[in-house]
Amino acid sequence: MMNWKERSGLGRGVRASKRWPAAALLALACALPAPLVQAQLPTLGDTSEMNSSAERKLGERVARELYRDPDYIDDLVLDEYIHDIWQRLLDAARARGELTAELDDRFAWQVLLGKDRIINAFALPGGWLGLQLGLINVTATRDELASVLAHELSHVTQRHISRLMTQQNRQAPWMIGAMILGALAASKNPEAGNAMMAGGQALAMQNQLNFSRDMEREADRIGFGVMTQAGYEPQGFVTMFEKLQQAARLNDNGAFPYLRTHPMTTERMADMQSRQQLAGRPVAPAPDLVHAMMVGRARVLSNPGVDGLHSYAGEAEGAQMAAAPRARQVGTLYAAALASSKLREPAAATRLAGKLAVVTAGDERAARLARLLEAEVALAAGNAAPAAALNAGSGGRPEVLLSSQARVNSGHAADAAQRLQTWVALHPRDAQAWQLLGAAYTAQGQTMRAIRAEAEAQMAHLDYQAAMDRFKAAQELARKANAGGGDHIEASIIDTRARQVESLLREQALER
Ligand SMILES: [Zn+2]
Repeated sequence: MMNWKERSGLGRGVRASKRWPAAALLALACALPAPLVQAQLPTLGDTSEMNSSAERKLGERVARELYRDPDYIDDLVLDEYIHDIWQRLLDAARARGELTAELDDRFAWQVLLGKDRIINAFALPGGWLGLQLGLINVTATRDELASVLAHELSHVTQRHISRLMTQQNRQAPWMIGAMILGALAASKNPEAGNAMMAGGQALAMQNQLNFSRDMEREADRIGFGVMTQAGYEPQGFVTMFEKLQQAARLNDNGAFPYLRTHPMTTERMADMQSRQQLAGRPVAPAPDLVHAMMVGRARVLSNPGVDGLHSYAGEAEGAQMAAAPRARQVGTLYAAALASSKLREPAAATRLAGKLAVVTAGDERAARLARLLEAEVALAAGNAAPAAALNAGSGGRPEVLLSSQARVNSGHAADAAQRLQTWVALHPRDAQAWQLLGAAYTAQGQTMRAIRAEAEAQMAHLDYQAAMDRFKAAQELARKANAGGGDHIEASIIDTRARQVESLLREQALER
């Protein structure tokens, strides 16, 4: 299940850790299994920080492994939803001066989704943020989701991570990276995690994997300001707290790593409540069809087992459905249609998606998501027409990629390639679009271009070695083709890109 252990050199890291002094530490945010003890961490007055480009490089090292993990998911629809909230929070952090121009420019500011059911969100070095679908599953409103993201964002903008990293300055970056990955793996599988951190160092290390209490309070305070400035309801912060606190009382089975790193103290709760009072009278959240649909989607994607899918598929048939509030109906129908599609029951999936379209009519954003689901369900059943008919001119990533996929599937690959070329020119880091473009080229027999597109997909996921292998294969092909007068423009693009990757690889080798 956890493949990054072998790949990240974690085995080496664990053995090496035996010689770590107890106070040497590692870092990372809110993902780590740790007791509620706060160890000797730098105080907020301590200004020593890892510089931002070193932090970015360390983050890349970790992100590269996360992209390769089977848990990573690039879901067109959820990704767009989270991206939108994240961008609003970033804008607010800029406007408030929390996000400096230097960090804005140097860090990645990207959210990586994981399809695990565990409730977790964590900030990584260099502006990457990890979010497990399990956390989306338990949110009732987008405000609650925004509150968690804003809190994690603030750990990064306040340089909490860099301060923790500084404590590691005697460790090689690969070792810090391996430890972060190890801690993330441990958060998913508490038993394996404990075994991994076996020995006398385990407790000492875990104690140091946390932000200090002061850092948590600062992330609460700044995060609250950022999320309210971004237009989210302050009560989302409080209800999310209450929810997590309640969950903490009921569960101690490792499903809530976020709680182990974020103790929901009475003090933090009181702070939150007084902040909310200052912000004004709580208002009842407006029914949010879009959020209900996104929770339905996250639940299905994080529960891929047949039993789970059957239970989601069956929920829409209950007699109480008709009496349920509209948002609940919409969320249930969405999950049921998607689950039926995953169960390869296309007739049921189509019927439920059609029902969803009726119930969402009049709410423009919800109706769009219903159309996307209809297209997705049809595409999975071998009918490309609804996806091909999506309005790719709308500029939405799901529309562009789904309609391109439909064109590749239905023998219009040239059309798809043209559309995707335009898209990747504007979004060169979109790995999924590059992959699809590769498939479109392959379908047209344009092998050299297909290989380059695959290389670009690897680049987007920071896997320079895999990209280099593809570029070399493409160069080889170009040499052979040249004999018969090949594609000179494409060949020269490939040469240029190969040189760029070579220098990135050299840089990487020096960092070790
Ligand atoms: Zn935190």
